[in-house]
Amino acid sequence: MYNSPKNKPAKTALKMSLGFKQLEGADFVEKNEAKEIITSAYHSIIKQLQSQKVYDSKVLIDQLHTLAKALQENTSQPLSMHSTNFDLESDYKSIAKESLESYAQTKESVERINKKQEEVLQENTRKNDFKVNDLMQSFNKIHDEISFHMNEAHETIEDLNKQILQLERKSNLDPLTKTFNRRSLDKYLGALCQMKGKTPQSNILLIDIDDFKKTNDTYGHIAGDRVLIFLAKLINSILREGDKVFRFGGEEFLVLLNRCGENAAHNIASRILEGVRKSSLLYKNDQIKITLSIGSAELQKDDDFDAFVDRADKALYKAKDNGKDQFVAG
Ligand code: GH3
Ligand code: MG
Ligand code: MG
Repeated sequence: MYNSPKNKPAKTALKMSLGFKQLEGADFVEKNEAKEIITSAYHSIIKQLQSQKVYDSKVLIDQLHTLAKALQENTSQPLSMHSTNFDLESDYKSIAKESLESYAQTKESVERINKKQEEVLQENTRKNDFKVNDLMQSFNKIHDEISFHMNEAHETIEDLNKQILQLERKSNLDPLTKTFNRRSLDKYLGALCQMKGKTPQSNILLIDIDDFKKTNDTYGHIAGDRVLIFLAKLINSILREGDKVFRFGGEEFLVLLNRCGENAAHNIASRILEGVRKSSLLYKNDQIKITLSIGSAELQKDDDFDAFVDRADKALYKAKDNGKDQFVAG
């Protein structure tokens, strides 16, 4: 993973101020990590806002300041090493910028109110006719004002959190077919393989469109794109809730069937093949028909990501060798 020395002091300061033990040793550059840091920081700050400890506002200001600094330093670095996600990168940057502005505002308000509180205290201690009730009233007013600003900050934070969740969803999806993307597959399937022996039966289907180059050549690339969208929808309509479709490559999809025995997986593969054979896509004046080849694999105890997918890939190529438009179990 990319290691930026520039990020280290900010990350350490942030960790110290917010107690982020889970970030120990992590490098602060991946979008996910930035998201985690921002989200955890939000939660930590929200917790403090909710506890309404007005007299701890100095600590809060310090934390806002540290977070703002860390965000600024982090977002001056590329948030991702993946060159395909520039739009997301700039979305994250604009969230970070918004956070900075919002934190700066809250910081300013809280500092101003703190000053007022000190002035009230000083004024009252100077006076000889020190009245507890008056002092309490002034402090209550100050407390209300702080609560108001804290609530405003809370709303901003919630809104930014929603934006981050939306981005997270977007960063896991393939923009064309709206199936999960390769990045999300690596994460999800990688984690599944690491839970060796602890998971119920899992099967994958590797699906490749037959002669798709010819489809593109005959009907054009845009028609080809429509076919991909159409196929993704068709596959999804056949699957059970909880099954997941990933775009594995150009015209290849990987279906993950969780809690699914081998026979059920073969049954689903046959239904996908049958569904595609029976359908055609009307594009302009053309009825476009495709067929698929499918290879499957069942997760074994000592599989890692590559071994698991490789078995399905080998089965897929047997299906191609055997004449396409068919399913082969791996
Ligand atoms: P096979 O039956 O052996 O799989 O043959 P094929 O033509 O499907 O395989 P090949 O790997 O030769 O070609 C895959 C084609 O898929 C070529 C490429 O232009 C097309 N493709 C990949 N991604 C996309 C995409 O996003 N949109 C469109 N329209 N075409 C795509
Ligand atoms: Mg292919
Ligand atoms: Mg193909």
